[in-house]
Amino acid sequence: MAEIVIQNLIKKYGDFTAVKNLDLTIRDGEFITLLGPSGCGKTTTLRCIAGLETQTSGDIKIGPRVVNDLKAGDRDIAMVFQFYALYPHLTAYDNIAFPLRAQKMEQTAVNERVKTAAKTLKIEYLLNKRPNKLGAGEQQRVALGRAMVRRPQVYLMDEPLTNLDAKLRSEMRMELKRLQREVGTTMVYVTHDQTEALSMSQRIAIMNLGVLQQVGTPLDVYNRPATLFVAGFIGTPPMNFVRCKVVDGDIPTLRDEESFVYKLTPQQRAAIGSHSSAELVFGIRAEDIHIVPEPSAGDLPVEVFLREPLGDEIIYDLKVGDKIFRAKAPPTLRLNNGDKVAVSFDTVRAHAYDTQTEQAIF
Ligand code: ATP
Repeated sequence: MAEIVIQNLIKKYGDFTAVKNLDLTIRDGEFITLLGPSGCGKTTTLRCIAGLETQTSGDIKIGPRVVNDLKAGDRDIAMVFQFYALYPHLTAYDNIAFPLRAQKMEQTAVNERVKTAAKTLKIEYLLNKRPNKLGAGEQQRVALGRAMVRRPQVYLMDEPLTNLDAKLRSEMRMELKRLQREVGTTMVYVTHDQTEALSMSQRIAIMNLGVLQQVGTPLDVYNRPATLFVAGFIGTPPMNFVRCKVVDGDIPTLRDEESFVYKLTPQQRAAIGSHSSAELVFGIRAEDIHIVPEPSAGDLPVEVFLREPLGDEIIYDLKVGDKIFRAKAPPTLRLNNGDKVAVSFDTVRAHAYDTQTEQAIF
């Protein structure tokens, strides 16, 4: 187990900067996910930690050692990739034992380690089989076993579940989480899949365009997105956004150029402070919009545009002027396209972002 400290990491490919001034401390024994869209720099960051890429500048510490100049093999890490890369001519046992034999470990110790890993991964029954006789999930477990037996200080995983079907992926998510908590080894896990990140991680580091946007627990990043990017990236359906201005009347409100109106709470008005004259982006999640079939004064009138039944809930697309808001409703609320209803907003769960800095205002 080890803490990883990344300080001012920059990685350039020619003129292109893939990772920009990254500062991140990963705690000893923590399961942290690097999350972001394709090309955001998460794999590059992982490869720099692994020693498979050399950073342009900055420092990486694993445990007490600065590893900047250490080769991958000397960093005491184990990697698992999207592609399992098992040796086809070796049994599962021999695949798992491979890194230990490469270290010239003596056979009794090898056997003990392979058996322990197999037990933890619940794959004792397949140790004598070759990879072509194993299903995708089993192969991935063997690959995990091969990473585990070395008992490294850190596991680095790059989208290891991508090639599995949806059911197996969801099972393996829980398995990996259990496994990591059981062995307590620091885990850095790369994915573009927010469900994976939210369900498995203790903390999530969200990146975009090479820039770290926010680091926090799954609840932090969901409930208090620090930037406009995080607000739009985390959550399904994505957060509703509308560009508005502050109008200080009897009751301070946010308004767009058409019919959208949102009454600010005193705390929200205070938080806006110096942003008052500029446009800002109002954000609200689908589950924080409440459809009111019998509108009362103060509710925002909307028209039902589309309904998307999902079994346990319905997503309604609601028109406000030329904008569409997506709201979640219970399956019992039956509305038809064209119905005129209204919505109210859960004010404590509303957000606003500065259009220039894209940082959260509230
Ligand atoms: P993905 O999930 O698609 O791999 P990512 O967030 O992991 O996305 P990276 O693989 O880290 O992204 O790539 C970040 C950026 O750096 C991308 O724009 C990519 O094209 C670029 N890049 C990565 N490796 C190289 C390389 N060897 N040479 C040039 N550009 C590279």
